[in-house]
Amino acid sequence: MATSLSESAPRGIAPNGPIAQRQILIQQPVSVHAAPIAQIPAESPSESSRIVAVDQEETSLTGPSRVVVSSRGVTVANLVEGYDSLLLDLDGVVYLGSKAVDHAVESINLAQRQGVKIGYVTNNASRRPEAIAQQLQGFGLSALPNDVVGSARAAVKMLATRIPAGSKVLVVGGEGLIFEVREAGFTVVDSASELPVAVIQGFSPEVGWRQLAEASYAIQRGAIWIATNQDWTIPREDGIAPGNGTLVSAVHTAVGILPDFAGKPFRPIFESAIEQLGVKKPLMIGDRIDTDIKGGVGFGIDTACVMTGIATRKELLAAKPDERPTYILGDLKELFQDYPKPKITRSGVKFGREEVQLIGTKVLLVSGDPRSLNALRAACQVIWNSPIPIYGLDVEAALYE
Ligand SMILES: [Mg+2]
Repeated sequence: MATSLSESAPRGIAPNGPIAQRQILIQQPVSVHAAPIAQIPAESPSESSRIVAVDQEETSLTGPSRVVVSSRGVTVANLVEGYDSLLLDLDGVVYLGSKAVDHAVESINLAQRQGVKIGYVTNNASRRPEAIAQQLQGFGLSALPNDVVGSARAAVKMLATRIPAGSKVLVVGGEGLIFEVREAGFTVVDSASELPVAVIQGFSPEVGWRQLAEASYAIQRGAIWIATNQDWTIPREDGIAPGNGTLVSAVHTAVGILPDFAGKPFRPIFESAIEQLGVKKPLMIGDRIDTDIKGGVGFGIDTACVMTGIATRKELLAAKPDERPTYILGDLKELFQDYPKPKITRSGVKFGREEVQLIGTKVLLVSGDPRSLNALRAACQVIWNSPIPIYGLDVEAALYE
C-alpha cells in the first residue's frame, strides 16, 4: 500500500503570473515531487572512501570545541564550526509560546561565545525589533534589536528601491510595520483617498475589513503592493488563526493581482539578514520546511531543520527538492556535535547504526531504531534520491509515525 505522505505535504503558492491568479492564493495541498531526481550513486570504492561513517561521541555543551579525526583520517569539525553565523527562526526553534525550547538558549549562547554571529530571522512584522530582542533577553539570550531581522524591514527595503523617500504609503499592519515605514522616510497614510503610491501589508491582530478595503482601492488605482510574508496561519494559544497570507488573499480576491513578498521563503529577508549582520557563511535553522528551509535553499545557503517545532518526519520524507534541509537536528545542542556522515550501501543509505534500503518500491529500515534521527536521515536520503516519486513508494510506517 502506498503511503499517504502527500496529505502532509507543505502548502505552496504559485509564482506571480497573469493566469488564474484568483486561485493562486487558495490553500491547496500540493502533490509531492514528481520531477525525476538523481539516483542513489552506486557503491564504488571511490565513493565509499569519500563518504565516511564517523563514530559518534557524546559532547558537552560546556566543553571546548572539538575536532576529531575519523578512523580514515578525515578531519571532522563540530557542525557549527563550518559557519560564521546562525540565522534562527524564532517560534519552534528558540521558543514555543512563552517557553524556551529545550537546549536552545544555552546552545545559542555557546555559539555566540565561540564567535558565531546570531541573527533572529522572523516573518513576524507586527512587533518592533526592540520588543523581540527584549523577549529573547527574557529567555536568557543576549539579543540586541540589530540581531533581529524581520520581514517588516525587509519589505520596507524593497519599497525603498521602488519609490522615492517621502512618498505616501498605505500601511495595513501593526506598530512594527508603521515604525519601519516611517523610519525609512515615507509618509504613512491609512486611506486610498490620500493617493498613496504603495501599499505595504503585514500581519497585525488589529487588521480589519476597512484596512483591507482601503488597500484594495489603492491597488486598483495603481499603487504598488508589497507584503511582509505569506504565512497562511499563525499559531496562537487558543489554536491556529489566519495569518498574513490569508489576509493578503482577501485583498487578492478583490484586486486580482498578487503582491511581492519580503519574508521567508522569499529572498529579500535573507538579503536583509546578510547585509544587517555583515556575515558571509550563514546556516539557516528553522522548523518549517516551506518557509525556513525553502527560503534558505532558494537563497543558496545551508539549512538545518530542527525537530522541536512544526516539522514532522512525514513532511521531511515528502519534502520537495527545494525544501530539503542540509541537516536534520533533534535540537540545537547538536550544533556542537559532529553531524553523522551518510554511507551509501548497496541498496540504501546508512547513518550511524541505522540503515534504510529501497527494495523495489519498499523503503525499509534494515537495522537500528526506526524512531531515531539517524533512521529519519537515512530514509530521507533514500527517498530524496529515489528515481520513484514519493507517492509511488511504500514507506515503512514506523519511519514516520
Ligand atoms: Mg518557526
